[in-house]
Amino acid sequence: MNWKGVIHHYRKFLPVTEKTPVITLLEGNTPLVFSEDLTKAIGPKVYLKYEGLNPTGSFKDRGMTMAISKAIEKGSKMVMCASTGNTSASAAAYSAKSGCLKCVVLIPEGNIALGKLAQAMIHQAQVIAIKGNFDDALTLVKNITDHYPVELVNSINPFRIEGQKTAAFEICDVLQGAPEFHAIPVGNAGNITAYWKGYKEYNDIGRSKQLPKMLGFQAAGAAPIVLGHVVEKPETIATAIRIGNPASWKKAEAARDESGGLIDSVTDDEILDAYKRLASKTGVFVEPASAASVAGILKLSKQGYFKKHKDARIVCTVTGHGLKDPNIAIKNITEPVVLKADIKAVLHEIGL
Ligand SMILES: *Cc1c(COP(=O)(O)O)cnc(C)c1O
Repeated sequence: MNWKGVIHHYRKFLPVTEKTPVITLLEGNTPLVFSEDLTKAIGPKVYLKYEGLNPTGSFKDRGMTMAISKAIEKGSKMVMCASTGNTSASAAAYSAKSGCLKCVVLIPEGNIALGKLAQAMIHQAQVIAIKGNFDDALTLVKNITDHYPVELVNSINPFRIEGQKTAAFEICDVLQGAPEFHAIPVGNAGNITAYWKGYKEYNDIGRSKQLPKMLGFQAAGAAPIVLGHVVEKPETIATAIRIGNPASWKKAEAARDESGGLIDSVTDDEILDAYKRLASKTGVFVEPASAASVAGILKLSKQGYFKKHKDARIVCTVTGHGLKDPNIAIKNITEPVVLKADIKAVLHEIGL
């Protein structure tokens, strides 16, 4: 297939016309990787929707191709976002591709993974660190974009959700229907909202015969939806979901309740275990936030949640690439041994 990006492929499901200038880096069409290891551990077939293989390394590109294309259609000259990292990387890259948009990014000072910051900077976004957390940054961006001719490209921009729902379409296209369960990390809760919308739209037109139960997972130190109240100082190593007051809170609850699913939390230790397990036993390297979905289904499995569903399929969205957060990876490996350049020493070391 000659893949031309999500707007081209799913045009009839998206609010675009022939007048919409399509700004694309050929995002989407990401692999659905079967995990033998997780299937063996859990029972139902486990698939990973490997969103780290999008152009800027996260699922944000699906929404950004829409948000940037629509901003240009409207005549905007500037876009702005608050970001834990991946939104800014994506906004910066798509703005660069457009050739005509200035991109301004507000990040929480000191809590952005290094790889993501490098991306926003190299794509020439104007990056401003705020002495505050993500939620503070988003409040500022909302205020500015409400009062000035600047387009907001956070996931409260409805075009972002429209683009992101295409991941659910791709899953149904590959599996020839929806899975029984869909597990997903929850931060600002745009993505769980988008998947649920996508699954419902495909179901409405008969492209799938069932709807999955949506299983959302927050980090224990940043679990406002699970706790039922705003978390003032969210803390987790999974910086992409370090959010204390999700913008799409109500929509995430609707996805949970309409689907008969749940939103639960996983600890940083559980996230790191899943992160290392994915890399070492399935060969898929993700950033810590992405591992929350896998940590979540491992936790549910221990509680017997999937006992009666051995024939079911679980799709886990793994949202971003492991290289986004090199510091966490480096903290979780041991340094290589150093030997002299001698064949005997090397053979001995590798047990031959
Ligand atoms: C943005 C992001 C999330 C959280 O998605 P929301 O739509 O904010 O819930 C999770 N993981 C990664 C890698 C992200 O970039």
